[in-house]
Amino acid sequence: MRSFKRYTVAEFKGYIRRVRVRRPISHIQIHHTWRPRKSDYQGERTIRAMYHYHTQTRGWRDIAQHFTVAPDGCIWDGRSLEMDPAGIAGHNQGGLMFEMIGNFDRGEERLEGVQLHAVTHAVAACLERFGLTHDQIVFHREHAAKTCPGSSISKPWFIGQVRRAAGGQQVTSSQTGIKDISAQPSTGRVRSASSAGAWSGEILRRGDRGAKVRDLQRLLAERGYQPGPIDGIYGPLTEAAVRRAQRDLHIAVDGIAGPQTYRALTRR
Ligand SMILES: [Zn+2]
Repeated sequence: MRSFKRYTVAEFKGYIRRVRVRRPISHIQIHHTWRPRKSDYQGERTIRAMYHYHTQTRGWRDIAQHFTVAPDGCIWDGRSLEMDPAGIAGHNQGGLMFEMIGNFDRGEERLEGVQLHAVTHAVAACLERFGLTHDQIVFHREHAAKTCPGSSISKPWFIGQVRRAAGGQQVTSSQTGIKDISAQPSTGRVRSASSAGAWSGEILRRGDRGAKVRDLQRLLAERGYQPGPIDGIYGPLTEAAVRRAQRDLHIAVDGIAGPQTYRALTRR
């Protein structure tokens, strides 16, 4: 059975810096899977299912994409880098293809948190490695009557996130991930909320208020799970952000923040 290799963001950066590719790389393609959704993700089984679909049903030589970025922030390898991808009909020559697991059409799932961190850092590393500029990032929809990589993702916003990842500038909520947080510049913002915070895993739930809720909201925002205003009120937006983080981090999804959620959000 075809097996796939899984990288953390830090491992991916090391790999891409060293890898040799004889084929000229002229652009980077960004796609979303649409199906499977983020909520369908089951690790390597999901990657194998895509491989099976691409090779058996579609009759392609290999899985379409070079890299798949999972909701939990890991990056799977795929098609040989020496082969053009099967990503955009008529526009694959010289392409390096990233597939993000999820349905990022408006009103569906969100590109955020550890997955956003992973894709932006991986794309930034590839731009640097292959001497490309941000103009050489291509969204599937630029060449097809599709919304891919999802109508909720604007290209200027995405490129801004890649720039931030490349620059290692001030840590913002949308670029902070967990997998290789040590690679992030250490800023007062990160320290103040995660170590000096009053919340250390006590049970918090919808309707709660106060400083501990505010700490939870800050932590969610730092990890890229927008909880709405940092107002110390555990309302529907905070609860939804907790659920999305719990889903990504593979812990019980109940919308209640307790010790397990605390440990997952503060893991280094
Ligand atoms: Zn696509």
